[in-house]
Amino acid sequence: MGGFHLVTDLDGTWLAGSPSARQGLEAVLAARQGIVLTFATGRTFTSALEAIAHWDLHPPDHLITDVGAALFHRDSTGNWVENQVWARRATSAWNASAAAGVLAAGLPGTLRPQPDLVPLRRLAFQASGPAELAAAEPGLAETCRLQGLVADLLPSHGIYLDVLPHGIHKGSALAYLQAACRLPRPIVGCGDSTNDLALFEAADLPLLMQDGLPDREIPAPLRDRIHRTKAPGPEGIHLALAAFGLLEGASHGR
Ligand SMILES: [Mg+2]
Repeated sequence: MGGFHLVTDLDGTWLAGSPSARQGLEAVLAARQGIVLTFATGRTFTSALEAIAHWDLHPPDHLITDVGAALFHRDSTGNWVENQVWARRATSAWNASAAAGVLAAGLPGTLRPQPDLVPLRRLAFQASGPAELAAAEPGLAETCRLQGLVADLLPSHGIYLDVLPHGIHKGSALAYLQAACRLPRPIVGCGDSTNDLALFEAADLPLLMQDGLPDREIPAPLRDRIHRTKAPGPEGIHLALAAFGLLEGASHGR
């Protein structure tokens, strides 16, 4: 069995299911040579590190945060170092003063900044529910246009709405990381929500959680090559990696 690059979302994906299943997969991954682990999350860097500490996660080699707006590498001493090339690329695509103008102009409907979050090179909002989110999105797009903020609006999980630098998402960050660090392939990309669609696009083997996005929300070309797990969280990922022939079977299977 050769190496591969496992890229996984956190909430609803790596953090879903039983901790023992995750720890079982972490042990298998750590025991094998040539496997690179990356977390790709909508969380901020601070929030991602809090999750790693809180759930006692095996730390990844690379960390994509802020839905792709930031990329970090773990050095040989375990410290996190931000990739400055990617930071410059995201910053150059982001008009911070126009973004401040969007916040100052007032938000439509129930849209509010996500509490206790200091997002990097993006705006992170949440609405009170899916209907409220759908109702608020056109108004926010118009506010961005009026304030001169060229950005991509990305809804996820039915309540979140991220405003990202144009062309910046989990997929573009992954493609940059893959090339810049010459990481092994195949790329297995795991996620559960709309903000993982770009990650799926950039992956050789896109892997959707069993209770993630419904098929109708997956674009047709991607729908034909996406795999859906047969168990929640890392248990489902482990089973899929075995089915792909990348790992031996899951001993903790149900
Ligand atoms: Mg998720």
